[in-house]
Amino acid sequence: MKNFFYLLLAILVSCSSPQNENREGKTGSVLLKNAKILRGDSTPVIENGNILIENGRIAEVGAGVTGQGAEEVDLSGKTVMPAIMCTHAHIGVVKDTTASGANYTRENIIRQLKKYASYGVLHVQALGTDRPLLFQNGLYDSLRNGSGEGARLISAGFGFNVPQANVNPSSTQGLVYRPSSASQVPAEMDSLAKLGINTVKIWVDDFNKTVPKMNEEVYHAIIDEAHKRNMKVAAHVYYLADARRLVADGIDFLAHSIRDSVVDDALLAMMKSKDVVYIPTLSLDKFAYAYGGETEWINDPFFKESLEPGVYEMISSEKYKNDTKNSPAYARNQNAFKIAMANAKKIFDYGIKVALGTDSGAFPIRTQGFAEHLEMQLLSEAGVPVSDVIAIATNNSAQALGLRDFGTIGAGKVADLLVLDADPMQDIKNTRKIFSVYKAGVKVK
Ligand SMILES: [Zn+2]
Repeated sequence: MKNFFYLLLAILVSCSSPQNENREGKTGSVLLKNAKILRGDSTPVIENGNILIENGRIAEVGAGVTGQGAEEVDLSGKTVMPAIMCTHAHIGVVKDTTASGANYTRENIIRQLKKYASYGVLHVQALGTDRPLLFQNGLYDSLRNGSGEGARLISAGFGFNVPQANVNPSSTQGLVYRPSSASQVPAEMDSLAKLGINTVKIWVDDFNKTVPKMNEEVYHAIIDEAHKRNMKVAAHVYYLADARRLVADGIDFLAHSIRDSVVDDALLAMMKSKDVVYIPTLSLDKFAYAYGGETEWINDPFFKESLEPGVYEMISSEKYKNDTKNSPAYARNQNAFKIAMANAKKIFDYGIKVALGTDSGAFPIRTQGFAEHLEMQLLSEAGVPVSDVIAIATNNSAQALGLRDFGTIGAGKVADLLVLDADPMQDIKNTRKIFSVYKAGVKVK
């Protein structure tokens, strides 16, 4: 009986070891050789170095690093950077040209996490549109700890929005909390905390005067009750005045750009002193108006392959172009993007922590995988130096998510790596020239 137990244990251990899958019959670990290495932090670029991976983690990195008996992979001419992380995404709700809670199935979630992984994105934080099935039968645990397929998932569970009459439960926000007063918040926060989540999502916006905005008393209570339970709060935000009140109230993440006004010094100082993380989601604001005109990416296979079926036909049609251009929101959206770009630069320059987020997966045009690479391009176009853009997409985002084992190429970190055919320091769009992706030292198929 005891022997049988040890046999069972040995089988379990060998099945769960990421290193094992990598061996392909060879013994030992993996040595990635002769690559340019962008470590994701402020340390200098390694022009020609090696990375030794053991048991899914980086054991050593640098020029001349060797590994006795390791499987060697020659990466001459390639550039290696940490895998990308997206701190504002949505999972499972889009399918084809629709966005709906009815699309939220285990299969759809895993399909999308695999798509992110194939684009070099190995962590996504889903902000507030998840559904109970994620928290059943161990699904969330397996997706969060990386033993499931695709990108690792961090969930904010069910977010908080304003009361609304006749909410359709199968709409994307059909299951979010909708407290009508601050007194309802503690019980709702208790039920959310039971899911084992770290971040709470709130929406504070009137969506161009189409819905009532969450009142300050309610979001004040949400922030307080979340903090009491060691959870952080991420706010959907649009207006400067709301950002100012949220920051004063203790918000942890501004999960979109401030898009109505350029930020002033008083808010910058308050964001900095309170360690607020800013997630610009510039790609969302670009997608909101881009197809009213010409885009440089519309026929790029890297973009097209990221799209859900039917979306290319939709966005490239004359009708879609005209509807976008003639929409009363067109000028507002163009202007919002301009202000968002200016604010991203100003906030970055002030030394406030910026993390990468896109809102990909909330709607079909916010396409998962491509959006994260476009976001890096837009941060660069906003004036953020490329080395900092890479840090934003990796180390800063890992820190924002509280993931100490991820985000840089350094000894002890999990070997989540993106291997590129060209160097993004020369052109940020080179992050799209993906040669291979490693998740915990195992090549993603
Ligand atoms: Zn979102």
